[in-house]
Amino acid sequence: MRALVNGVIYVSFNPVKRVSGLVIANDRVVFAGEGEVARKIAEMADGEVVDLKGKFVMPAFFDSHLHLDELGMSLEMVDLRGVKSIEELVNKLRSSKAKIIFGFGWDQDELGRWPTRDDLDGIDRPVFIYRKCFHVAVANSKMLELLNLKPSEDFDESTGLIKEKALEEARKVINEKVLSVDDYAHYILRAQDHLLNLGVHSVDFMSVNEKALKALFELERERKLRLNVFAYLNPELLDKLESLGLGKFEGRRLVIAGVKLFTDGSLGARTALLSEPYSDDPSTSGQLVADKNYLVSVIERAKSLGLDVAIHAIGDKALDVALDAFEETEFAGRIEHASVVRDDQLERIKDLGIRLSVQPHFIISDWWVVERVGEERAKWVYRFKTLSKYAELGFSTDAPIEPADPWLTVDAAVNRGKSKVKLYELTKGEALSMDEALHFYTYGSASVSLARDIGKLEPGFKAEYIVLDRDPLKLAFS
Ligand SMILES: [Zn+2]
Repeated sequence: MRALVNGVIYVSFNPVKRVSGLVIANDRVVFAGEGEVARKIAEMADGEVVDLKGKFVMPAFFDSHLHLDELGMSLEMVDLRGVKSIEELVNKLRSSKAKIIFGFGWDQDELGRWPTRDDLDGIDRPVFIYRKCFHVAVANSKMLELLNLKPSEDFDESTGLIKEKALEEARKVINEKVLSVDDYAHYILRAQDHLLNLGVHSVDFMSVNEKALKALFELERERKLRLNVFAYLNPELLDKLESLGLGKFEGRRLVIAGVKLFTDGSLGARTALLSEPYSDDPSTSGQLVADKNYLVSVIERAKSLGLDVAIHAIGDKALDVALDAFEETEFAGRIEHASVVRDDQLERIKDLGIRLSVQPHFIISDWWVVERVGEERAKWVYRFKTLSKYAELGFSTDAPIEPADPWLTVDAAVNRGKSKVKLYELTKGEALSMDEALHFYTYGSASVSLARDIGKLEPGFKAEYIVLDRDPLKLAFS
C-alpha cells in the first residue's frame, strides 16, 4: 500500500476534480481525498507514504491509436539525414548494433550520387535504407536475398533501388517474413520504453499482425509488458481466432480488444474518399478500399467473438460507408480519424453510438489541408469540439506517423496550429480547453477503448498516474 500526500492530485478532468491525497493498493486506487486521511490509511496498514513536495499528479496518458511495432522500428532506424558522403553513410550504418539494419533520411543530392547495393555490401548484416521521402529505398545483397523481389520497373536489381509498388511489396515481406517474433518483441519493448518516458501508460495498438500478436502474448506471459496494450488485429487473424474459439482476451496488461479495418486512404496522398472531388485535383475524390458488404461480414464475425471493431475512415464519403456498415449490423463500433465530417453525419454518429479516435497533431502535419479540400469544406476538418458533443472522443498520435509525445498533441488540440497553419482561422471555434484536451487524452481514450477502469484516479481505477512539476491546467505553449 502506498499513499501520495502533499501535492495536487487531479483525479479527473471532466469534471475537474482535485484532491490532496491518494492511496494505492495492488496497483489500484483505493482512496482519493484528504492528504491527512491518506497518510493515516497508509500508516495504519504499514504502507509507504510518498511526499509529493508540492508536485502535481494526473492520470497517465492513453494513446488510443498507434503502432507499437512500427514505432519501435522507427526509433531504431539509423538517422541518415544530413549525411554528406557514401563513406559517411556506410560508417553510420556499420556502427548500428541491430541484427537487421534499417535507416532513413538520405538524399542523393547531399550524398553526391545515389547509393547502391554494392556500397552497402561491406556491411555484414541485411541493410534497408529509405530515402528521405520514404518512397524510395536501397537494400544490400543480404537483404535482397531475404526479400526475393521480382525485377520490375520499380525494382532495379543491379543497383538495389526499390520504389513505389516494389517498395510496398518489400515492406510486406519484411513484416511477414524477414522479421521474427523476437524482432517484433524487441520493437514493442523499445516503443514501450519510449512511451512510458513520455507519460503514456496505455495504448491501442492498431493493425496487429500475426507475429506482433505472438510477440504480445510472449511479453505478457513473461510479464514484460508495462503498458496496458489493447490490441486491434488485422482481419486476417479472425480465421485463427475462430479456429481457436478465442474471443475477447483480457490478461494482466494485454487485452485482445478488436479488429481494425480500412475504408479509405489519406488526405496527404489524396486517397481519402470525399463525397466531392479534391479542390486541388478535381480529377479525383479518393479511393474506397473496402466496400460495405466486406465491412459488414467482418463486423458480424467480430461480433460473434465479442470483439470490438475499429474502422479507419478519413474522408466524409468513407465515413458514410463505415456508418452504413455499423447501422446494418447494429454495432456501436469506433471510427479512426474521422478527419472530414459533414454536418448531416453528426446526428447519425450520435444515434449509432459511435466512438471516435482522433489525432489533433494532424492539424500541424497537414498544413496544406485547406488547399486539398477548399475553404468551404475546411470547417468539417478536425472539428474536435463539435465531434465531442456527439460522440465519445479519444486522443491519439498514430505514432510513428506523428510524434508520440502527448504534449505536442495537447498543444495542437488547444491551439490548433495558431500562426502556423491556415486551418486555424477557419476553425477557431473547434479549439479545446486544456481540461477538455486532458480529459479526451485520458478517460476519453479509455472510453473509446471500452476500458472503464483507466483514465481517472477514482477508487477502483488502475493507478496509472504521472507526476509533473507544473500544474497541467496552467501550461502555456509557445
Ligand atoms: Zn494508424
